[in-house]
Amino acid sequence: MRTSRAVIGATSLALAATSVLASTATSATADEVTPAPTASVADNRGLSASSSDAARTSQARVVREAAESPVSGTPLTMPSAYPYQPQLQLYRDNPSDASKPAQLLGHPDLAPKLEELMAKSDRISVQVVGQSTQGRDLYLVTLTAPETSAETARQAAWKTKIKDDPTAAAKDTLLQAQYKTPVWISNNIHGNEWEGTDAAMQYIEYLATAPLSEVGSILRNNRLYFSPSLNPDGRTNATRATALGLDPNRDMITNATAETKSYIRSVQAIQPIYTADFHGYTGVLQIEPCGPPHGTNYEYDLSIPHNYALALKVEQDVVAAAIPGNPLTSAGGIAIPYRDDQEGGWDDFPPVFSAQYSAFFGAATSTVELPLGRAGAGGTQTPERAKVNTAVALQTMKSIVGYMNDPTSAKEMLSNQIETFRRAQSEEPKKQLTVSGVSSVPGPTQWRPLWDTLDDQEPLVLPNAYVIPRGAGQRSESDAAALVKQLLFHDIEVDRLTSATTVGAKTYPAGSYVVDLDQPMRGLANSLLDLGDDISDTVPQLYADGAWSYSYLWGATVDKVGVVTDGPIGVSAPVSAPTSNYSVPATAGYATFDVAGVADFTALNALLEQDVPVSMLADGSAVVGSASAATAAEVAKTYDIDLEPATAADLDALDDATTKPLRDLKVAYVGTADDRIALTTLGFDDLTQVTAAGIQADASLLDGVDVLWIGSTFTTASPTAPTPVARAAVQALLDRGGALTGRGSAAFNAAKDYGLMTGTALTSPGSATALVSVDTPDSSVLAPYRQNTAYIYPATWFTDLGAGTTVQQRYSSKPMLAGHWRPSSATNAPANAANNASVVSSETQRSTAGVKARSIVFGTSVFFRTNPKSLFSQAARGIFWAAPAAASRLSAPAGGSTTSPAQPSTPTQTTSPTQTTPAPSTVKAPSSLEVSTKVKRAKSRAAKKTVKVSIALSAASATPGSTVTLTRAGKTLAVVQVAADGTAVVKVKLRKGRYTLVASYAGTATVMGSTDTVKLRVR
Ligand SMILES: [Zn+2]
Repeated sequence: MRTSRAVIGATSLALAATSVLASTATSATADEVTPAPTASVADNRGLSASSSDAARTSQARVVREAAESPVSGTPLTMPSAYPYQPQLQLYRDNPSDASKPAQLLGHPDLAPKLEELMAKSDRISVQVVGQSTQGRDLYLVTLTAPETSAETARQAAWKTKIKDDPTAAAKDTLLQAQYKTPVWISNNIHGNEWEGTDAAMQYIEYLATAPLSEVGSILRNNRLYFSPSLNPDGRTNATRATALGLDPNRDMITNATAETKSYIRSVQAIQPIYTADFHGYTGVLQIEPCGPPHGTNYEYDLSIPHNYALALKVEQDVVAAAIPGNPLTSAGGIAIPYRDDQEGGWDDFPPVFSAQYSAFFGAATSTVELPLGRAGAGGTQTPERAKVNTAVALQTMKSIVGYMNDPTSAKEMLSNQIETFRRAQSEEPKKQLTVSGVSSVPGPTQWRPLWDTLDDQEPLVLPNAYVIPRGAGQRSESDAAALVKQLLFHDIEVDRLTSATTVGAKTYPAGSYVVDLDQPMRGLANSLLDLGDDISDTVPQLYADGAWSYSYLWGATVDKVGVVTDGPIGVSAPVSAPTSNYSVPATAGYATFDVAGVADFTALNALLEQDVPVSMLADGSAVVGSASAATAAEVAKTYDIDLEPATAADLDALDDATTKPLRDLKVAYVGTADDRIALTTLGFDDLTQVTAAGIQADASLLDGVDVLWIGSTFTTASPTAPTPVARAAVQALLDRGGALTGRGSAAFNAAKDYGLMTGTALTSPGSATALVSVDTPDSSVLAPYRQNTAYIYPATWFTDLGAGTTVQQRYSSKPMLAGHWRPSSATNAPANAANNASVVSSETQRSTAGVKARSIVFGTSVFFRTNPKSLFSQAARGIFWAAPAAASRLSAPAGGSTTSPAQPSTPTQTTSPTQTTPAPSTVKAPSSLEVSTKVKRAKSRAAKKTVKVSIALSAASATPGSTVTLTRAGKTLAVVQVAADGTAVVKVKLRKGRYTLVASYAGTATVMGSTDTVKLRVR
């Protein structure tokens, strides 16, 4: 429980509005599900023109089963025979569907159409491969000639052989002759790039129903996979992002969205030889391969020749089709970046995009961009443009499949995939495509000069392995476990050392993890774990991220060891999950844990949420009292935390001035989805999004807020700003000891405007995207579990700092480690940031005696696309440092410490059960009161809804049987008795609307009263 601030004589106030109720988000949830029609075994499924094979029809019925709804991110279970035709969940029509203005298919149209085709044809199979953020099914549609289970098993075995035993696969003539080419066409990952979906559905219908004389060869030789819509929420709501507010086509290595989790499981299951992801809009049809700079971990000599030839075939076909309204280039063709782009136009440098992710599976890949941009109202498309784009997309899909159905192309591309996996497991050095390498590459020659001038990188030296140590050499065991989990999700093989092993000068304890690069996903593993390259001098700009290293940005210590030609490291065994970190002390007593990684902060917040008194020591660790041992053990289990018995030194430190009793923080933020997701991930669950205008309209939004986090522009402090109410509310927050925190120049300027800091915020060009090195002074707030790398996109640094502004971290003398940062002026180069502050803080005396407000601002991109997990922990540490302390302090157990604990300096009481010093009788201990509410979902259309109000008083001071009064606008709603555990629950019925409920505890002779208010919205 949060204890009240010790303001004697005043009524204490503690707010606990639940985030769900404070939310003003209006995004639509998935259309309600209507019952699917009853499956009929008497329908004519399987009796289409394509086949009347009775055995296969019966096979189809065998595999037809109720649609399972796999969770996005779980491995896909692939059909054991084809067709696989489950019953699909249907969705109610949505009148405001953003697909409608353009007369395009809405997501609710997909399932009925697929059901209809499944009823007609045994060539089509449909799987549900996850759900969108708002709960819409994600479909994977397969078009192929029917297969018996024996045939499907054989295809599956070949797929495995290609990846895991490529040398044998290369010699397997039956495989080469009969392996069905997996081709994957995905669409609509950007929700407001619609037409790929419609073209795919038209093509699916054609393939399912056309005479076998037209499509028989395609269906026999290939498995054509279609993802009609990878982002149905965005499709429905006319947004590029998913309903989470993140761009899924930048999320392939972070996987914060359900949609990309599903994409990654799909590419693993399909193992495509060719894949295209349909987007829009670039004015003229565009198909990859990309121009430079090229990613360093791909096998371009294998993928580019066919990928380029395929693009040329698409161009030829699209031009010949002369689709009315389809614009062509001045040269009369389409755009192929590889051929047409100059420097830094459309590159394939980072693996954050769908196509550049899939390429690691040995596929030739493309991001296809449709021509005609949105011209409808409210960011929608017009029917005329949609028609052109759909026709262009359909032609492109047909040309792709035509190319892939050519036996020579298919066989060579299969060989290239096999060779990709063979190289990965060969322990051979990577052949860098520099000048000499390029000259030996077969295929088109147009790109060689471009490649050479723009991509003349140092040869990529592959290490033997990446080692993730455990024990003393590991910065964060929790981040290490999270990293291992993430690597396994990406199909990267991770081993565990079975005994202590010395590599070079370092000895790794048993249990340390090894990612040996002798593995099928070598390219992906190295791309994800390597530092990357500084390519600032190579190209003028990048299309997107320039650095993304898990080793430097995910918080765990990772060592790069040896060279790829070395033999295996020690003796190890493969793992399927990280080793659990969970442990609890053998006997229930004071306990401690490292607060180093993301899960540690999440656990810390979970403890605070459950009213556990926690103190943070100067070394960054947390200490929990013996009275909370059971709760602490439960939390440690949930978050996989290593909870250790507190040492005598830990107990001694409890009363140190540098030890901070933590409170359950209420955080308000100004910012984006990045801020919301990162803070939520860290466990700051009492979180409200605010804006200057919102606070101006309702200043109570900041009532009880402990920390204001600023992630985007917030200019309320100026006397001329049109938000005087907001300004006063922020001043009030600071005056009661609340904190102003955040990132970038927006946060720094706000801190300045409120008189908390002095100095100047400077920034790199917005295009700068880099992994940088930073220095953390020993005295820094960020010194515990120090991390000396950070991410910027862009960088902000702080200069001309006044005496009251403290540097907590600096950019190092040479900040650039990897990525791209090219200055646009004489003042925004890495050299300008060098040695300047990257994180600053302040502590300011407020007008009330003894009250100080703290501020901390990060110039690094701590929450960028939720990827740099290492920076999440830095931000969280900063927030806990800046936030007000809990009023009561965890004391050492009597006699359990080598020195006796000092008396509490305030009259507030510790909740430690061993605390025996009574408060002086003249001073009354305030009781804290915390109210939370939940609106019960109405089953009927009743005018009033039930609201459950939970009230919690600090157990130390509340008297069981005493009462709490719940009022609204001065009117009493209920009088509730306090139970023995210090809580009270009441249910009230309220109409739709917004409410402020006030709970008041009158207090007793020895305990002061208190009140708490909670805002809620009933809908
Ligand atoms: Zn797009």
